[in-house]
Amino acid sequence: MANYYVWTIGCQMNKAESERLGSYLEQLGFQAVPTAEQADLIVLNSCVVRQSAENRVINKLSALRSLKRLRPGLTLAVTGCLVNSHLDQLKQRFSHVDHFFQPGDCPQWLGEVGSWPVIPQQPSPGVFVPIIQGCNNFCAYCIVPYRRGRERSRPVAELVDEVRELVRHGAREVTLLGQNVDSYGHDLADKPDLADLLAELNTVGELARIRFLTNHPKDMTPKLIDAIAGLEKVCEYVSLPLQAGNNDILKVMGRGYTVEQYRQLIAEMRRKIPGVALSTDVIVGFPSETEEQFEQTVSVLAELRFDNVHVAAYSPRPGTIAAREYEDGISPAEKRRRLDRVEQLQERIAAEINNQLVGQTVEVLVEGKKQGKWQGRTRTGKLVFFSEDGNYMGQLVRIIIDRASPWSLQGSVAHNNKD
Ligand code: SF4
Repeated sequence: MANYYVWTIGCQMNKAESERLGSYLEQLGFQAVPTAEQADLIVLNSCVVRQSAENRVINKLSALRSLKRLRPGLTLAVTGCLVNSHLDQLKQRFSHVDHFFQPGDCPQWLGEVGSWPVIPQQPSPGVFVPIIQGCNNFCAYCIVPYRRGRERSRPVAELVDEVRELVRHGAREVTLLGQNVDSYGHDLADKPDLADLLAELNTVGELARIRFLTNHPKDMTPKLIDAIAGLEKVCEYVSLPLQAGNNDILKVMGRGYTVEQYRQLIAEMRRKIPGVALSTDVIVGFPSETEEQFEQTVSVLAELRFDNVHVAAYSPRPGTIAAREYEDGISPAEKRRRLDRVEQLQERIAAEINNQLVGQTVEVLVEGKKQGKWQGRTRTGKLVFFSEDGNYMGQLVRIIIDRASPWSLQGSVAHNNKD
């Protein structure tokens, strides 16, 4: 039996696609191995959304060149966002790679096993489900639309069947994925939207929780907010990238909303969805961002008090509008300073928010064990650890929170009342 190893870097979409790729390979008779050195087939699922990610991919490909020299029979394939329309250049640069295939595509050169995408046969309790591929937005800094193409939604019926199947195999929570989930459905015949899809999935018995990532502030509707508030399986957790707290920077980024509109969305969610947890993304050091504009971002973050903030320093991605039109004039040291400032602020805010949970009882979906402790997440996406004998894998457990840090919570089982 041939062995395979999939190396994945990047976002949840890549992780979901790698999981499906693994199931596909296993249906073809391949067996997973823990290291690339043991594999007959290595697939690199790449990310180039930031320079640091691209560097890691290039380094990995260089390291695999020597392995391929030692073992010429090894098959090396690359997918993900490195694979672009300039395939000839890629093939020339990485001549040791046997196959390149587009993100989300089926590696048909290996053989056919019925339908694609393949549903993971042994899903983890929380599983990612891509619902829309690609993006039509062309934010100035973003390479995704060039690599993943225009938006393509999967039909509601197909997704409901898939989620039923995942639940039959043990999944309890699904996270619906898309570069912009708020665009879901506009390209389908009867134009369902994300709220319609959530309503359908909410009827799947045994499914306990539904999440979705990532929203776009210009596309998020009151109907969706009502769906989150009203559907009991939809978690009170929303990821809504802000990117910048200054309207001029938002404009050059091509984001299509203002800080005021963003603030209103947050207020509406907090009003309609009790206990909602909010996550955001911010880019610091975007071309022309002045100190004052950066400080406006900091004050919006301090005002809105997110549960999580993912902050990135801007790096130009060749082929994007920003790389073509704007000079990357802010030094790496200054970008680092701005990034550290946001991280320090957020560490304090997250600690304050999480400390309020000490003494409270929360529902945790247990996803595995780490260093001898069970770990899982609350409906609001908080990472919780607890120690307890017995097998809690895949169960909903009520946990009393004993301690909190900015990044996670520690607790103990409340009267052993497993769900
Ligand atoms: S919405 Fe903007 S940032 Fe998000 S994937 Fe599309 S182009 Fe990129």
